[in-house]
Amino acid sequence: MLAMNYRGPRRIRVSQKPHPELLHPNDAIVRVTRSCICGSDLHLYHGLVPDTRVGTTFGHEFIGVVEEIGPTVQNIKVGDNVLVPFNIACGTCAFCKQELYGNCHESNPEATAVGGIFGYSHTAGGYDGGQAEYVRVPYADVGPTVIPADMDPDDAVLLTDVAPTGYQAAEMGGIKKGDTVVVFGAGPVGIMAAKCSWLFGAARVIIIDHIEYRLEFARKYAQCEAYNFRSLEDPVVFLKRTTGWFGADVCIDAVGADAAGSALQTITGKKLMLQAGAATALHWAINSVKKGGIVSIVGVYGPTGNLIPIGNVVNKGITIRANQASVKRLLPRLIEHVKSGVLNPKGIITHRVPLEEVAEAYHIFSSKLDNCIKPILIPPS
Ligand code: NAD
Ligand code: ZN
Ligand code: ZN
Repeated sequence: MLAMNYRGPRRIRVSQKPHPELLHPNDAIVRVTRSCICGSDLHLYHGLVPDTRVGTTFGHEFIGVVEEIGPTVQNIKVGDNVLVPFNIACGTCAFCKQELYGNCHESNPEATAVGGIFGYSHTAGGYDGGQAEYVRVPYADVGPTVIPADMDPDDAVLLTDVAPTGYQAAEMGGIKKGDTVVVFGAGPVGIMAAKCSWLFGAARVIIIDHIEYRLEFARKYAQCEAYNFRSLEDPVVFLKRTTGWFGADVCIDAVGADAAGSALQTITGKKLMLQAGAATALHWAINSVKKGGIVSIVGVYGPTGNLIPIGNVVNKGITIRANQASVKRLLPRLIEHVKSGVLNPKGIITHRVPLEEVAEAYHIFSSKLDNCIKPILIPPS
């Protein structure tokens, strides 16, 4: 089968790989009909995730048709159209029982932090992902969810990660009616977080980035205010001033490690001398939230994401909440929001690329070229 094949940082190709096989009685094999490239894939692509092995196939956002099931699988059948959450979850461990599907122990027992994730290095369990024609789906009774017949597949594929992650970012922020929310990062996740913040009752939503076309997209798609941090003297002072010097009620970090690193290169000229890879957006979030406010982090950090201004966290009495999104927990709510038209996840898709051109798609998405917000990959039919 055709599959994306990681060769080293910024080196990706498409190649033939063996068709995946059922390895456990509760596995399924899914024929992929669409997959996405995510900002999280860029951390792998940039070589920031430990133990990313050559030959791995990325891709944790995909939908497809069930081709084969193991003998114990009961909840899905061959021929079903399914969306598959990015978290690989056993459904029965202590974490899954609390609906913390992103923290499943069984799917990645040797890890200290993250559960299993499709196509996300051996740090996340060493599973191959869905940027391919076929993928093995473990614990097939737990994650895969039959796509409602009337749902657009483009909406369905965004329910595997980006929509739930944006929603959970807003939820973890504990947004209350009338709150001012600041979202750092106008990528797919930040834009979705801004959009979802309104659902929780925000009165004002501000997004911060430095890529003009993304800010423009966010203004239209999420109806929020959008500011370019390069044109602000100091984003923290700006955010304080515009909130009557109180600071925002909630700040959301939808940037993470490598994107923050690239932003740093652009602001070092302004003497913001932080170590490369340090968490600029997270600093800004902590420093511009109000005293007693909440900072919600969904941006993914590798080992470089340290140097947090912990003194300010203490002095301001800030609550920090963070996690991988728990997709399965949120799916029933989000499917309803898509059906009712409150959420339109497919509206962020800007590029449809044949799987054969996956290397070019990574380049465009990583370099923020061609007004790219969210690219999806289409395997050959
Ligand atoms: P993306 O790379 O498309 O977007 C990141 C955006 O942040 C870019 O537009 C970039 O210009 C902007 N940025 C960089 N530095 C900034 C700064 N200092 N202040 C404000 N904006 C800045 O990625 P994405 O797909 O939107 O994902 C965003 C983050 O969310 C990534 O770290 C990704 O790994 C993470 N993520 C987490 C989960 C989860 O479950 N927690 C799920 C999906 C993605
Ligand atoms: Zn993702
Ligand atoms: Zn589990």
